Amino acid sequence: MAQHQDHYAVLGVAPEATLDEIKRNYRRLALASHPDRHPGDVEAEDRFRAISTAYAVLSDPVQRARYDAQRHLPVGLFDQPVTLQTARDLLAAVVGDVFGRQRRERRRGRDVRYTLTVDLAEAALGSEHEIQFEALGPCASCGGTGSKPGGRPPTSCPLCHGRGEVKGEGFLARHTTCGRCAGTGMVHLDPCETCRGRGARREPRSFKVRLPPGTEGGAEKVIANHGEPGQFGGGPGSLRVTVSVRPHAWLRREGQDIHCELFVSPLEAARGGKVPVPTLTGSALLELPPGVATGAKLRLRGKGVPSEGGRPGDQLVTVVVETANLSAGTAAVGAALEGLERALQAEPQALPKRAAQRGLK
Ligand SMILES: [Zn+2]
Ligand SMILES: [Zn+2]
Repeated sequence: MAQHQDHYAVLGVAPEATLDEIKRNYRRLALASHPDRHPGDVEAEDRFRAISTAYAVLSDPVQRARYDAQRHLPVGLFDQPVTLQTARDLLAAVVGDVFGRQRRERRRGRDVRYTLTVDLAEAALGSEHEIQFEALGPCASCGGTGSKPGGRPPTSCPLCHGRGEVKGEGFLARHTTCGRCAGTGMVHLDPCETCRGRGARREPRSFKVRLPPGTEGGAEKVIANHGEPGQFGGGPGSLRVTVSVRPHAWLRREGQDIHCELFVSPLEAARGGKVPVPTLTGSALLELPPGVATGAKLRLRGKGVPSEGGRPGDQLVTVVVETANLSAGTAAVGAALEGLERALQAEPQALPKRAAQRGLK
């Protein structure tokens, strides 16, 4: 539901406040919540826009009179907040462009993203990988500054006056990125010839990534300062490595535990004893109790996912007695199973439940 915005409350002034009081509070609040002070903070941006909207209405005597006449209605006419750019322009008109220059001079380098695909065991047990990729790195000729060695330092862009964007005619005209400085607000007077002023060159890079034991698919490792270099003194971005885990043929991870189905022959199930079972660390021997049935759950303690400093998980094994399909043309197996069935007729107590259900003795 639309909420009536109380512009006086937003600016922290009384309804009879003077224009000076309104202006004083607006300056203080708008500077404190300015998005350049809170990069990426959506709430700060909303607050900044609300403060700017309140000031836009209350600093104009005509709008303020109309607002005063309607402010006790449930939904007001002045609730649409101004855009972020309008809010920036408004503040610049009142206090001067305190953020514009400084905002534009430094540009942080972009993040480099890499997806590292590993096996389940490599993720679960921990592993080290050398990843290789092509990315922008600091230009060796200019040390990443973008200026020709010995040349003049960069200066504010003469076209946009350091704002990084240019505005068309009129109050509602759109802002567009300045084509001269590509939005940085700065230009090189003597650009480095190797990198043409960017301060960076595409180059093969390699990096060692260590996955700790217990790493899960989707995990992201952020390696600060190993992304693309910044411009005009801005810091480098981060290298972001996302872990993708290849599915294992037999093993499935659930938290710290590993689940698997163990396929055994009718004889192995009947006799019991040790059978090999795949685990994260290779094949292990699991002791089957004699007469084990499909669906039986057995546990290999400590064979699950290790955790740094904690107790490792377990491997939970579900037994599946694999039944031969005689239509597959395995004649010798068929003959042996028929011999087995004859023996079971003679000794029905070997399968006591079947014997009881069919009334065999
Ligand atoms: Zn260079
Ligand atoms: Zn420019």
